[in-house]
Amino acid sequence: MPSQNAPRVGIVRDDRYLLHKPGHTHPEHPNRLKAVYRMLDADFSGELVPIEAQPATLEHLELVHTPAYVKRVLKTADHRYTSLAPDTPASAETYLASWLAVGGCLKALDRLMDRSADVAFCLVRPPGHHALKDRAGGFCVFNNIGIAARYAMREYGLSRILIIDFDIHHGNGLNDLFHREKEVLYFSTHDPMLYPYTGDWEDVGGGEGEGYTVNIPLTREVTDGEFIHLYEQIVGPVTGAYRPQLILLAAGFDAHKEDPIGRSRLTEEAFSILTYLIMDWRSDVGDPPILFILEGGYSPRALSASVKAVIQSLLKPCAASKEVAGETQLSVDMILRARAIHHGYGVW
Ligand SMILES: [Zn+2]
Repeated sequence: MPSQNAPRVGIVRDDRYLLHKPGHTHPEHPNRLKAVYRMLDADFSGELVPIEAQPATLEHLELVHTPAYVKRVLKTADHRYTSLAPDTPASAETYLASWLAVGGCLKALDRLMDRSADVAFCLVRPPGHHALKDRAGGFCVFNNIGIAARYAMREYGLSRILIIDFDIHHGNGLNDLFHREKEVLYFSTHDPMLYPYTGDWEDVGGGEGEGYTVNIPLTREVTDGEFIHLYEQIVGPVTGAYRPQLILLAAGFDAHKEDPIGRSRLTEEAFSILTYLIMDWRSDVGDPPILFILEGGYSPRALSASVKAVIQSLLKPCAASKEVAGETQLSVDMILRARAIHHGYGVW
């Protein structure tokens, strides 16, 4: 059982997320979530607050997506197997899982806003950060996090939302959606040599949103320590300066060294320490609601180990005495480059 002052960690899980079946050899396979759910039952039985997912409404989906695109997704129910994009096939019940993925995120946000949970993790699929207004792609159907951010603005009147995207792929859908707005600050670390090949250093947002997009392309050699050093030196100050009213995590774990798609070298330890740090920065700005939403991670073993590491860090936030020796020429160069590009905007 959790100790008295352990945070109440809400979890969205639902077996209907397994109904989206993009094919036996597709990396975004239901086995990903099955492994995570098995781990939850084995390691956190009774310690987490269940949050029941409900399908999103049409109105919710249209906060981001065009009515024609939503209709197109719905039409996939007519076929046993079809395709929304070359890399994003759909099975007959993909529409249901996709509707529920958005609905689960919105429900979790409601639970955070009414303070019946302190932090929540949505273990949903299909993922969302590549989904565009009118297009699927990169295994993503609806932009779960984008819709959650829009919903938070409309339903709760929030005007400073921080999205931290540590999936190894650039979240082009999120990047595009909030490119010209300062109400959402989008931060992403990613491998620029992987799909969708976007997210250059110089892509900093535009118009009112100039400086409110922070893209950090990573090299494949980055170690746990360097990754943590980079986050300490950039996301720490970004959080302190922006003072978000809500933090959304695009929690993809495909930067793990065992991931079959990512080519990076991180271990679950990096995600554990990153979680401690984020919770620390959050407490410095008044403990705003914080929502982790699953994106990628294609080795079921590495994915469940990484999600476990994050949940353990959430449940025991006081154990944040972990130190990693991460400062190297590579991490210092990346930090200096980001500061040089962003210095003039005065956002952080
Ligand atoms: Zn990814």
